[in-house]
Amino acid sequence: MPGPRGEAARIVDSACVRRWLGEVAVRLEAERDFLTQLDAAIGDADHGVNMHRGFTAVMARVGAAEGASGGQLLKIAGRTFVSTVGGAAGPLYGTAFLQAGESLGDGDAFGPRRLLEALRASLEGVQRVGAASEGDKTMVDALAPALAAYQLEVRTGGSLETAVRAAREAAADGARATVPMQARKGRASYLGPRSVGHQDPGATSTALMFAALERAVLTDRSQRFAAGARPRGSRP
Ligand code: ADP
Ligand code: MG
Repeated sequence: MPGPRGEAARIVDSACVRRWLGEVAVRLEAERDFLTQLDAAIGDADHGVNMHRGFTAVMARVGAAEGASGGQLLKIAGRTFVSTVGGAAGPLYGTAFLQAGESLGDGDAFGPRRLLEALRASLEGVQRVGAASEGDKTMVDALAPALAAYQLEVRTGGSLETAVRAAREAAADGARATVPMQARKGRASYLGPRSVGHQDPGATSTALMFAALERAVLTDRSQRFAAGARPRGSRP
């Protein structure tokens, strides 16, 4: 049974999506150099710069999109990413956001199961574009376990909060687990066995996005309750 605090927090609305994108932008700014260092080891030292440039453009367009639904905001983010970020990450993340946005549609608010479908659409989009499987040392190694952990939580009666927490933990574990892998996709695959021993930059930025999602959901909840939202049947 959901606790009294669970009720309002089981909904993600456009304000929460906005908060999530903003949180990603802040974290990408803070982690830009770290992500670029990771890419320097097994790629071409531009992942942090690419992601930061993309999200700066995303935030400008999202900020101007007043009244947009969460799904529409994600579609804007996806299109902006495709048009402003080159390399592998641009089309891959662009597709992920676009597919999530398409999946959520134009509704005002959605629950944990709609978010599950959106995450699944993102992973399918990334795999359609990049053809990477788990174990190839890419962002899929963070995204796939995050989706699996989120799904398990939702299907076993967990709340939105516990589901995004499980996703954040699984994404972080997944990113760390790329260290011993040999890259089989993307630029890092050119290094062959020399790609072993380094954490994948794209898996790391994906883990950052799930950490931001958890923060956005938890902040959303505390703001709702601060504003006096009360669950049905509760006493004032
Ligand atoms: P580029 O490799 O073109 O310089 P970035 O440095 O921005 O682009 O992004 C690199 C990241 O993209 C990698 O760390 C990896 O996670 C991800 N990536 C590369 N190729 C693929 C692919 N085929 N499928 C999924 N992710 C990929
Ligand atoms: Mg690169």
